[in-house]
Amino acid sequence: MQVAPVPPHDHVPAREPLAPKHAHQELALEVRDLWAGYPGQPAAVRGVSFVVPAGEMVGLVGPNGAGKSTLFKSILGLIELLRGEAIAFGRPVRAARDDIAYMPQVEEVDWAFPVSVLDVVLMGRYHRFRPFGRWSRTDHDRAHEALERVNLAEFAGRQAGQLSGGQRRRVLMARAIARGARLLLLDEPFAGLDAAAQHELLQILDGLVRDGNSILVATHDLSCVMSSCDEAVCLNREVIAAGPPAEVLTPEILSETFHMHLVTVGALGVQVAGFYPPASARSESGRAS
Ligand code: ADP
Repeated sequence: MQVAPVPPHDHVPAREPLAPKHAHQELALEVRDLWAGYPGQPAAVRGVSFVVPAGEMVGLVGPNGAGKSTLFKSILGLIELLRGEAIAFGRPVRAARDDIAYMPQVEEVDWAFPVSVLDVVLMGRYHRFRPFGRWSRTDHDRAHEALERVNLAEFAGRQAGQLSGGQRRRVLMARAIARGARLLLLDEPFAGLDAAAQHELLQILDGLVRDGNSILVATHDLSCVMSSCDEAVCLNREVIAAGPPAEVLTPEILSETFHMHLVTVGALGVQVAGFYPPASARSESGRAS
């Protein structure tokens, strides 16, 4: 067993933005020089460019405060862009909304609200809901199919607030699936899950990608990115590096991304145990998770 703090690096140059491997590969998402933030503050994400090729899973890696949620919200148009653009399936995102599903962090949902699991999943179909209308048979079918896909079919009538953390995550996943979108943006779906729940969720994601869907998943879990993602994007306000996980999740790039020394157990890049803050980072608050 090897436990090796990696010396800090002053600067790791950003690599070329992710580019499609094949000239004619369809892009589910193309983010070009995107800047976004909040009033009265410096831009939270700056000059971000990368792509999600259709049928691939891309892992978005970065510490708390790196701008991952801001990036998702700006891609979706929930936050106004300061500069740049996001293109989904060749169209501006606002014209491709039906093709995109977003799964927020589990904390952003009010689980005390008295609704059933099926109600939560049906919310994924709101874009098809007519004012004063009722859910159609198709809406119900899609919602039940989505619940089956996440192994929660028998929980449809259960109060959403009664579910465990892992089940809540799967309900949100079902809501995203029920939307019928081809591109899923998932914000920290593994956070706080135990190994079994994480594995179950990862299998669901793998299945969705096998069926041709595209996924952008923000996560701290480097082993998930290494094992399951086709590409990785390291973000800390700006893109530090992007490319195949084995090339991007290196100690040097992760140190630059997390502003920490990487502590590994076993072969570098295969098992990642955690981070050890260098003295210079310990005084920085809010930068590193
Ligand atoms: P991450 O998802 O990587 O943890 P965020 O996108 O949540 O990062 O945060 C990026 C930066 O934007 C942080 O400095 C955070 O404090 C700030 N921020 C996030 N949400 C808001 C908000 N609603 N209003 C003002 N600042 C925000």
